[in-house]
Amino acid sequence: MNSIFRSMKQAAILLTIFHLVSVVVIAQTPSPPLVINKYSKLTSYPELSSYVELLGRKSGLMKTEIIGHSVQGRNLYAMKFSLSGFGKDTTKIKVLIFAQQHGNEQSGKEGALLLALELLRPVNRYLFNKIDLALIPQVNPDGSEVNQRRNANGMDLNRNHLILTEPETIALHQLFDRYLFEVTMDVHEYSPFGEEWKKYGYRKNTDLNIGTTTNLNVAESIRKLSDDDYLPFIFSYLHARNFSSFTYSPGGPPEIDYIRHSTFDINDGRQSFGIQGTFSFIQEGMNGKDDSIDNLQHRAEGQMAGMRGLLEYTYSNKGKIRTLISGERKKLLSADPGQKISVQSQHIANGQFLTIPLYSYYSHNDTLVTVKDYRPVVKSIYDVRKPSGYLIPKDNKDLVEWAERLSLEQIPLKKYPGEHFVQYRITSVDSADFEGDRVADPQLASDILKELPPDHGFIFIPTAQLKGILVVLALEPKSMLGLETYHRYAGLLKKGSPFPVLRVEK
Ligand SMILES: [Zn+2]
Repeated sequence: MNSIFRSMKQAAILLTIFHLVSVVVIAQTPSPPLVINKYSKLTSYPELSSYVELLGRKSGLMKTEIIGHSVQGRNLYAMKFSLSGFGKDTTKIKVLIFAQQHGNEQSGKEGALLLALELLRPVNRYLFNKIDLALIPQVNPDGSEVNQRRNANGMDLNRNHLILTEPETIALHQLFDRYLFEVTMDVHEYSPFGEEWKKYGYRKNTDLNIGTTTNLNVAESIRKLSDDDYLPFIFSYLHARNFSSFTYSPGGPPEIDYIRHSTFDINDGRQSFGIQGTFSFIQEGMNGKDDSIDNLQHRAEGQMAGMRGLLEYTYSNKGKIRTLISGERKKLLSADPGQKISVQSQHIANGQFLTIPLYSYYSHNDTLVTVKDYRPVVKSIYDVRKPSGYLIPKDNKDLVEWAERLSLEQIPLKKYPGEHFVQYRITSVDSADFEGDRVADPQLASDILKELPPDHGFIFIPTAQLKGILVVLALEPKSMLGLETYHRYAGLLKKGSPFPVLRVEK
């Protein structure tokens, strides 16, 4: 009797101790380095590493995974939040948020670390009844350590999502390919403090700019939900939390250069996923005025609020987004040759003026400015028909390795009745305007080859795959977003020569 009583008492003491320990563990979930450093210093890579590894060890909700390594060998971390084993519960919606592709845009990383702590609070656990979240606080640790935009190879990672030559972007896309996230967001900063704007007398001053997918080949239903539903939601969500926001509108200053509604290239973190049927966004916070630390608490908290808003929207609209995405992805996967793909576009005006909030260097107040040269509409100026697939010569090492880096599906080539092969000939190489830059614009003739090229000489990339439209945009010689616009593939266009990639057509 005595001993039972004793063991019951021991059990009660043990339970109390256990309870105390668990309370202490929750209370001890450590603050992010930024908070510990009182917002006076950026989080270094060693601080970030130990913080995300510590959270991963302590939390039952989040596991930290190393998804790759930077050029200089630093770890690329994904924090994977899930209540059910990441990616295993197929009724959940998968969200990928990644920050700091540009190393000198520090508030995205800081905001992501603040968000991680916030999401581990029990009060926010409900989000993970519906969501599996992968949060990458820092895509470019090498750039971050020296506060530079590019990675250690001198590459702009946010222009690398089509050629995928850098270990950082490769790791990001491999993670995407593994889980096929339905929702993605790429987190950046913008700097409004340039001399040109100062001369103009005004500058942008919003805490956050939010951009949607704008390439014409991204499914219209995705673009529509983003513009008509998500943007109004996130603007009011941020407003309620005392952060100002606006649509991502590059260009300007007004009267000197036009302002457009985003860019339509697909080599960035937003559209390279959007083109694969993903509900995908860019968010940019404002850079520090004098240095990266200026106003850092407000900037980091703003970035966190924007990311948190995306999760809230996704939580409330899970069913709608999932239905939309699965429908659009089915279309991409089913063979649909003949579909029109826009390979050249431009921004045009539609008579609408843009009213944009700007900070006045004269009055030191925010004021509304009307922009007359505003070009919000993306219009196709050259379409091609989607073929069944493309043939890449096996002896073209650059192209074969590109297809491998992108993990493009390759299948054995079979000849179907009525199928033939088209080879372009380049008759001249002109140039065309692309958002203020000049890009090559070849003039083409084409030859129909009735004979099947020897199978061993080519790899066949079908367009009926998730990356099918991306493949068309990469491999069409007239595409202003194509491989041949990158220095290392410029040799694909030689006047008087055949274009080495063949179209397979019915
Ligand atoms: Zn950026």
